[in-house]
Amino acid sequence: MFDYSYAPIMVLSGDPVGSKWRPHGDVVYRTDNLGARVGVLPATCFSGEHSLHVVGYRALELESYLKITCLACDDKTSPRADYYWALYTTPPRPDRAELDDAPYKDLTEQIAQRKRRPAPG
Ligand SMILES: [Zn+2]
Repeated sequence: MFDYSYAPIMVLSGDPVGSKWRPHGDVVYRTDNLGARVGVLPATCFSGEHSLHVVGYRALELESYLKITCLACDDKTSPRADYYWALYTTPPRPDRAELDDAPYKDLTEQIAQRKRRPAPG
C-alpha cells in the first residue's frame, strides 16, 4: 500500500529558487486520537492532475518549508517551479504524515484562480 514515509531526503539551507518566490501556504497539522502530531499534506498534486495516493509523492524537507513532488509530474516534465507543492512547516516535526485535500480546499481554489488569471504586476 501507500508509504507515508516523511523522512527528509536532505536538508538544504537557503532558498534555491529566488527571493521573490515563496511557498504556497502552510502545512496543516492535526493531532490524532493517540496524541500523535500529524502533518496533513495535499492529496492532489500541484498541477491538479494526479492523486498522490495513486502516483506517489516525495516530500523534501527544507529549512522552513516542505516540498512535495508528484512522482507522475516529476517523471514526465523537466524540472520546473510549478509541479510541486511548497508549504511552510511549523515545528515540531510531525510523527507522521497523511494526505487529505480537505484542509487545502481554499488554497487549491486560490491557485486555480491564479493560474487562470495571472496576478497583475
Ligand atoms: Zn502530478
